[in-house]
This record gives sequence, structure tokens and C-alpha cells, in this order.
Amino acid sequence: MNANKPSIYDYTKKELEEYFVSIGDKKFRAVQILEWLYRARVTSFDEMTNLSKLGLQTLKDNFSIEPLKLEGKFASNDGTVKYLFELVDGHYIETVLMRHNYGNSVCVTSQVGCNMGCSFCASGELGKVRDLTLAEMVLQVLHVQRDLDLEDERVSNVVVMGIGEPFDNYNTVLRFLETINYGRGLEIGARHITVSTCGLVPKIKEFAEFELQINLAISLHAPNNELRSKIMKINKRYPIEEVIEAVKYYVEKTNRRVTFEYILLKGVNDTKECALELAKLLKGINAYVNLIPYNEVKTKSYRSTAHDAAEEFFAVLHKHGINATVRMEHGNDINAACGQLRAQKMKEKRELCED
Ligand code: SAH
Repeated sequence: MNANKPSIYDYTKKELEEYFVSIGDKKFRAVQILEWLYRARVTSFDEMTNLSKLGLQTLKDNFSIEPLKLEGKFASNDGTVKYLFELVDGHYIETVLMRHNYGNSVCVTSQVGCNMGCSFCASGELGKVRDLTLAEMVLQVLHVQRDLDLEDERVSNVVVMGIGEPFDNYNTVLRFLETINYGRGLEIGARHITVSTCGLVPKIKEFAEFELQINLAISLHAPNNELRSKIMKINKRYPIEEVIEAVKYYVEKTNRRVTFEYILLKGVNDTKECALELAKLLKGINAYVNLIPYNEVKTKSYRSTAHDAAEEFFAVLHKHGINATVRMEHGNDINAACGQLRAQKMKEKRELCED
């Protein structure tokens, strides 16, 4: 992205329409441009062959169309691909492609770093530097889609579960969701998109009003306040009962099922008592629990629960009528745990500077 000109990817359909109307052009120009960007996936304005000479010049004069700068790409044995991008201001972000039998899923980053400070997470170690822009978010998906174009495949699912707290970059994330969902663009079905939050209660309630049928996931990770506050500092601000109350409100308003994510940390939150307490907490809520094996982080002492113990935890939930699955791990061999590649890259950069 050129520092002087805004990126063309930084505009939603509505915003582009407003722009073209404001310069005395036609509203439908926006749709034409979006089709070029997200359907034809052109990499230069010159490829937009149905624009007038003057229209083309206006675009060139006022916008940039730069992609993200790829710093590294790491492929795992299970098909997972991890991308490391360098942003214009020298910061790094990560994006992950996961290949499932139901399609290709992209895990998108929403912020440079994160302020939520969960004790087990590699992303939060250095705090938040800044929010990502709309362009920086959509270009992650577009980059992966361009790779998949070579295999005649498409991005079918998007999860906003990369680095950052999406609800701490709320407006941009909503603009991102609208943009990737747009029917004459990437056309990723709302039901195939998931946004994950650590539990920012006011935003969960606000999200209930959002017009698209996006899936909402809540990172719960503990069944009571004492334990949750120990591992997730956000719980001190928004305790469990408020999160559950917001989720109930959301479910009632939207009629949608919510997913609770629960990472299994050995000896911390994976006991039978925790499973029982979790079952009790979620009883009667239209919800689904995703039990996630912890992806061990070099700088943290947490360990992943063994598979057998995870199955036992699952069995307790199942017995008490709670829908759950034990999620598979992806890309273990390529530092797929969020933020690890970025952290590694920053460490290298610091070491270089110190030399
Ligand atoms: N901030 C948002 C989204 C980004 S994190 C949230 O908290 O939901 C996406 C998910 O990955 C969260 O459930 C988070 O708790 C989890 N996570 C973080 N570090 C992890 C690790 N090392 N192994 C497994 N899951 C992790």
C-alpha cells in the first residue's frame, strides 16, 4: 500500500458508491470495481478494461492497489499453509490456510498484536500495536484465494481467529465481513464465516443486530470466574455470568447457535470437575462446545491435555447433554499457534538490530 494514496481495498461497497457519487460518477462504478478486485482478482488498475480512460486515470491518481508483502510461507504435512506478511509500517501478521474435507478455511488476523493478555496465548505477549485496516484484512483472504486459483479451488470458509481481538476492532471487522460476503465479490457465505471473541460483552450484544448470519464463537476456556480470571484477564472486566447472559441475549435475538471454544490445558482446566461445572453452566443454551487441543507455545509452561483425557472430558459433556467435539490440531509442525511466527520474526529483527 502506497503511504500517500489510500488502498482501493479499504472501501466497502457502500463507501465506494459514495465516493463515485461524490466525484460525479455513477454509483454502479463501485460494483464494477468490486468485481474486478474480488472476482477477476486483477492486480493492476490497467486490467479493468471496461472503464473509460478518464475513469481509469481517476482510480490511478487516487488509490493504490498494492497487495500484502509476503515475507514467508510455510507448508505443513497436513496441508495447512501459514503465511507471514509484512505490513507497510514494518509490522508482521499471520494468516493460515487450513484444508478440510468440507473446503478451504482461512484464519484471518484482525490486529497487530493483542491487548487481551490471555496467559496461554503467544499473540498477546507484546500487547497491541494497532488495529488492522479493512485492506489489510481482505488482502489476507485475497492472497490465499489467488494461491488457490492456481488449483481451481476457492476459499469457502473464513474464521476471524488469527492474531488480535476482532471485537476490539469492531467496525473494521464488520466492514470486512460485508466485503468478503458480497455476492459479486468473493461471495463467502455468512454461515461459512466465524468470528471469535474472548468475550467483550457490549460487542456481543451489538453483534446480535448485525444483518449477516455470521457464526459467533466465544473463547470460554474455563467454567468459573476464579479459574477464568487466572488465565484470561478480560474475565475481570466481563465475568462469566455477564458473558453467558450476553450469549443468551444473542441467541434469543438471532436464533443462532453459538460455539464455545475451550482449550484443554493439562492440569489447569481439564479435570472431570471442570467438565461437570461447564456442563452445568451451559445447560439449556443453544450452544456447541469445541474442545481444542492446546498448541504449545515455547515461552509458556502450559501443556496440552493428552488425547485420552480430552475424550474423557468430552464424554462428561456428552453425558450431560452438551453438544461438543474435540477439534483436530492443524499445522503443529509450522508454529501454527497464533502469533508464534510473528514473535519469532520480531525476535530475529531485534537481534539483527542489536548486532
Ligand atoms: N481474540 C479472539 C480471537 C483470536 S484467538 C478470541 O479470543 O477468541 C482464537 C482462539 O485461539 C481463541 O479461542 C484463543 O483462546 C485460542 N488460542 C490462543 N492461543 C492458543 C494456543 N496456543 N493453542 C490453542 N488455541 C489457542
